[in-house]
Amino acid sequence: MMDEQTFALKGTVVYTEEKERFVCFEQAYIICENGLSAGVYPELPGQYRNIPVKDYGSHVIIPGLCDMHLHAPQYGFRGLGRNIDADGWGTWFDIYAFPEESHYRDLDYAYRAYDRFTGDLMKTTTTRAVMFSTIHRPATELLMSLLYQKGFAAYVGKVNMDRNSMDGLIETARESIHETEQWLLDCQGLYGSVKPIITPRYVPTCSGSLLEGLGNLAVRYKVPVQSHLSEGLDEIKWVNELEPGLQCYAEAYDRHGLLGSEVPAVMAHCVFPNQAEMKLMAERNVMVAHCPECNMFAANIAPIREYMDNGIAVGLGTDMAGVGRLEMFQVIKHAILASRVRWGATERAGNPDAPMKGLSWAEAFYLATKGGGSLWGNAGSFEPGYLFDAVVLDDTSIADLSRRSACERIERLIQAGDDRNIVAKYIEGKSVYHI
Ligand code: FE
Repeated sequence: MMDEQTFALKGTVVYTEEKERFVCFEQAYIICENGLSAGVYPELPGQYRNIPVKDYGSHVIIPGLCDMHLHAPQYGFRGLGRNIDADGWGTWFDIYAFPEESHYRDLDYAYRAYDRFTGDLMKTTTTRAVMFSTIHRPATELLMSLLYQKGFAAYVGKVNMDRNSMDGLIETARESIHETEQWLLDCQGLYGSVKPIITPRYVPTCSGSLLEGLGNLAVRYKVPVQSHLSEGLDEIKWVNELEPGLQCYAEAYDRHGLLGSEVPAVMAHCVFPNQAEMKLMAERNVMVAHCPECNMFAANIAPIREYMDNGIAVGLGTDMAGVGRLEMFQVIKHAILASRVRWGATERAGNPDAPMKGLSWAEAFYLATKGGGSLWGNAGSFEPGYLFDAVVLDDTSIADLSRRSACERIERLIQAGDDRNIVAKYIEGKSVYHI
């Protein structure tokens, strides 16, 4: 059935059906029917010949990008905190993250910060995200409401912490579980495509009894899970001290059903998996949210090629105040760079003939679209049946004097483009941003 939501966008269409290569069409039509893609065509098929067409000329149209790890309350202090001396895992938390997050108990502060954050997020290439708020239920619901009002799609998590946080930013396990359940009940049916996700911050801030309670809620309410996993060596050592006898860090989540057994899980970073962790992740429905820039500031690079080779889903994330920008093109570029540096320092070291194992542009773009989008089942592509999330880009400001192919233009946008190139953005068929 066609209705008023059936229309087409026309332009140079680029996306990735498979991670190995871009699919490119010049002067093509992408059809949107009831919020879903009905496919890409060189000419409008007969049954669609009377639908409205928005002609974007030679502009590039890509699927919206998915930011799979984003701390919304850290947006305020973006660009700060990487210049402090690394004298322990807690320094950055103590100086920046925890004091800032504690402000969100004040709803007026939360409104001012989240209104700015969500407004800025709408001006980026990101169309859906998986994000942390803070431990505060009212502020979390406010963030969900603001995202919903602006037409965004997201999983948003009320954070849980019952140990190793600061005064005023901690709950008991009982309070935390109770508040989380109340929040799940509060948001049922209220915020459209902005949905809750169970969010233990990470094992050092969550006792076993809290994790157990959250695992029960995730299953009872059929809500996915997000957390952090194996980001730093000092963190892993700490987890081993807190939870002795683990084969791997991920086991601390897995024994409470928080690693993608009955409900899917998104784990940020995953930089230092041991063999047991890689095997366990391959057996579960868990996605790695790769945040290359944040990891490189800590002098680390996650083994993304190994995850992909083991059939483990991977998406990309900004992480936020580990970096300075919301722009996902930057993350795609950093994912490519990080993978090449890792390959150069490992397999290629001393061997000039070693085959390149770094990510290609198409692979990194795939991770930012269909890779992350797989959490929703059908996001991140223009294949028929996919959610109609699209970003229209004008690359005139970075164009040269030669005619370039669509593949070259997306390569250049990733390398040299930014949010100033955005002309329009659609989420599930709705126009949510236009310049
Ligand atoms: Fe994080």
